[in-house]
Amino acid sequence: MFIYDSHQKTKRKFKPLIEGKVSLYVCGPTVYDDAHLGHAKSALVFDLLTRVLEAQGYDVTFARNITDIDDKIINKALSSGQSVEEIAQTYTDSYHRDMDALGIRRPTLEPKATQSIEAMTEMIQKLLDKKHAYTIRNGDIYFDTVSDKGYLSLSHRHSLENISRVEKVSEKHNDADFALWKAVHDEGIAFDSPFGRGRPGWHLECSAMIEKHLATQGAPYAIDIHGGGADLLFPHHENEAAQTRCSMNHELAAYWMHNGFVTVGGEKMSKSLGNSFFLKDALKAYDGEVLRFYLLSTHYRGDFNFNEEDLIASKKRLDRLYRLKKRLFDLSAPIIETEFTKNLLDVLEDDLNVSKAYALMDELIASANEALDANPKDKVYRQALLSSLSTIETVLGFGAKNPYHYFQFGVNEATKIKIDNLITQRSEAKKAKDFASSDALRDELTTIGVAIMDTATGTFWEMKN
Ligand SMILES: [Zn+2]
Repeated sequence: MFIYDSHQKTKRKFKPLIEGKVSLYVCGPTVYDDAHLGHAKSALVFDLLTRVLEAQGYDVTFARNITDIDDKIINKALSSGQSVEEIAQTYTDSYHRDMDALGIRRPTLEPKATQSIEAMTEMIQKLLDKKHAYTIRNGDIYFDTVSDKGYLSLSHRHSLENISRVEKVSEKHNDADFALWKAVHDEGIAFDSPFGRGRPGWHLECSAMIEKHLATQGAPYAIDIHGGGADLLFPHHENEAAQTRCSMNHELAAYWMHNGFVTVGGEKMSKSLGNSFFLKDALKAYDGEVLRFYLLSTHYRGDFNFNEEDLIASKKRLDRLYRLKKRLFDLSAPIIETEFTKNLLDVLEDDLNVSKAYALMDELIASANEALDANPKDKVYRQALLSSLSTIETVLGFGAKNPYHYFQFGVNEATKIKIDNLITQRSEAKKAKDFASSDALRDELTTIGVAIMDTATGTFWEMKN
């Protein structure tokens, strides 16, 4: 496996800290609103990475945190009249629902910030002891960036000019210093700590959780791979790296992976620009797997320009896979390694080269249709093809649905019930050898645009295009 490491700015051969195992950490959502396509892109990239590593035989421990305490959550709670816990739970649930719809597997661990306060205060204490942190008069604690010789080495920045995300506080020793702990003096939401009541800084959460849940002690790095969106490289990941380096006896991650932005018309998708697409809205119009296919279709490091025409083209490409799956429906066979399986993993091992993976998939579908047309009963070929399709399902996450159900997307419940009733009546008529009725029922289904297929496991239907 070769991974582009954004720290060393080069593609490097992957070598895990412990043979056969991979520890992966990805920054997760702050749960105060529904997920948009940008969240989906990041989750998809690391879902793909996990699947590829597992296909290579690695035992992957993947942690993605949930930031369930944050000013944005508190503000939403205040404006909606709900509690912080209710807001966090609502949007954690909606995040799960939307990501599940895209076939994104849940991480091995999903630690919540509110459950890791002790790990955070322990890290702050270490930073204070080692003089990498200081307390200002109001009780806030800051990380001293000048005390860290490695600061800015991850993001390769040379200065802090034009950085809007750096907080301006007059008592800070250096402009780049960032809060580890914010003291709370009123009745606001706060946690008890050796430094008094307060709330942890956002950057601290990830470093502390990595130590608590994933870190390999005694190794030069806490974990193998740290991932996230490119917008997190600075200051968030730079600060995470600094906290870990200065409090523990290791660097944070051996490899850093960053995925590009989702843009619309060349601009980064963001709520403030009003060009963000909530995943839940996209899921009303498109099957989750179509969105998965589309969002994964370009290399993860490049920016992804969202465009509905491309989305429709992606759907047509995925439809071809499902049409082929219909030709193999009912077939079951042991999974074997095929040349396609090997080739697919070879291209994905090169820093997740999805363009080549998609091209291989297109070639497979075209050649399979030709072969099945020429020789529909070739059992050996059909069984091998089934194994190749199963690899696509496991590694890329495409084609996991019943192909007949896939083509029913968007048909409303009332219509589905009506169609199912007509199909049941037709089956009963056939069983009673009442062929006049069964033909009339088939005609009725055809009139409303439904095509039916009788198979050994039942009758399936889809809407004709
Ligand atoms: Zn993080």
